[in-house]
Amino acid sequence: MRVCVIGTGYVGLVTGACLAHIGHDVICVDNNEEKVKLMKSGQSPIFEPGLSDIMQSAINAGKIEFSTDLAAGVAHGEILFIAVGTPPLPTGESDTRYVEAVARGIGANLNGGYKVIVNKSTVPIGSGDWVRMIVLDGIAERQKTLISAGGGSIEEKIPEIAAQFDVISNPEFLREGSAVFDTFNPDRIVLGGNSQKAIGLMKDLYAPIIDRQYAADQSLAPVPVLATDLSSAEMIKYAANAFLATKISFINEVANICDRVGADVTQVAKGIGLDSRIGNKFLQAGIGWGGSCFPKDVSALIHTADDYGYEAQLMKAAVSVNERQRLIALEKLQQVLKILKGKTVGLLGLTFKPDTDDLRDAPALNLIEQLNRLGAKVKAYDPIVSQTGLRHGISGVLVETDAERLADGCDALVLVTEWQQFSTLDYGKMAKLMSHAVIIDGRNFLDPEKMVRAGFQYVGVGR
Ligand code: NAD
Repeated sequence: MRVCVIGTGYVGLVTGACLAHIGHDVICVDNNEEKVKLMKSGQSPIFEPGLSDIMQSAINAGKIEFSTDLAAGVAHGEILFIAVGTPPLPTGESDTRYVEAVARGIGANLNGGYKVIVNKSTVPIGSGDWVRMIVLDGIAERQKTLISAGGGSIEEKIPEIAAQFDVISNPEFLREGSAVFDTFNPDRIVLGGNSQKAIGLMKDLYAPIIDRQYAADQSLAPVPVLATDLSSAEMIKYAANAFLATKISFINEVANICDRVGADVTQVAKGIGLDSRIGNKFLQAGIGWGGSCFPKDVSALIHTADDYGYEAQLMKAAVSVNERQRLIALEKLQQVLKILKGKTVGLLGLTFKPDTDDLRDAPALNLIEQLNRLGAKVKAYDPIVSQTGLRHGISGVLVETDAERLADGCDALVLVTEWQQFSTLDYGKMAKLMSHAVIIDGRNFLDPEKMVRAGFQYVGVGR
């Protein structure tokens, strides 16, 4: 099928490349010229395991193109994905201006022939109908231009074009760091909308994925496809992220109590996670959740609830537990080192999770800001950020090129991100390079006994 994906970030580029990989003809459109230039040369502007390889093979097979030309993308696609960012506004609500610009641009360029417009961006509940309205506005604006140039009347043409598209909500559940894997191995596909024709086309589009043709385990039953109304599909995305964020805040709260009573949260998590009603995922205590999705999506849902006269107390509590948790490493540093002024603290990891280069709303950023405020010098080593030199506007931190340089002269290390390579560092050597061999394990990732044998004073979270 012919597909256009508008917005080539973590979601759009992965979606476009995976759809091209399974045989569709894809044009990826972005208004960032530099990104498009880079992608045209076969390079991915983001770090995501496996993405460069499938991008390259799709380019070689002639299945994917990159462009800044929205009109060409709209003309090409039977399915038009909107995958632009929806960052948070200072009020907590979602900033939908990029979605609006794209929807208007689609309307202005619809060229006849039935199209499915797919909202893949995480958008506030009700956005499906709103996108339809904006697309119609875009059509009307173009009609006005045509009329002033001597064309037909708006009333005649709009119903004709409006009948030729439907809007579908298809929320995305991929995780950064395993986005390609997640796209080929989804737990479910959610399709919200009231057009059976559009839902049928979406099922055709995803058929090879639904049938597990590209799955790690092809013997599994087909991927469940949940067809819902538009609002429910939009709500599923917010509710899923709010639930996961709340689960993490819950175990972090348990960890803080464990710290006070002398229990070990890693054993507690194992003990409760074996209960099939609870499950063992998202029960790793640590320095809190961050990244580009959980904080903004939970805030947006709280904001929506407020708009409709309901106070989302549980979600507000999950946010406030998290705000405090994001500074728990600072509290622990103060307990061990006392005064932080004039001390040097080294951060192992900067990104909000391993296997990504994404620093949006990463807990490391809060930590750097607070350590600077208290007069500490901050250094960091991150396998991707140090290597690529991507700094994404972080200030107040000296980025080192390896873990030993990081340890050199530090009074304490804080493990911020559980990168796999941090389990095999030469901690004995690192301890000797430090002024004080203290390590705060912000993800309960390291073996405490091994760290003590390496010469460290080890401090975990709730253990
Ligand atoms: P991103 O910021 O990485 O990418 C957005 C892209 O859209 C950028 O490349 C930007 O240049 C482009 N863009 C903006 N305006 C444009 C326009 N008018 N025309 C063409 N391109 C335009 O964002 P992302 O992380 O990929 O997130 C996209 C959406 O998916 C968001 O709503 C997000 O909440 C949702 N989502 C993200 C993830 C994730 O893990 N990142 C997971 C699930 C859902």
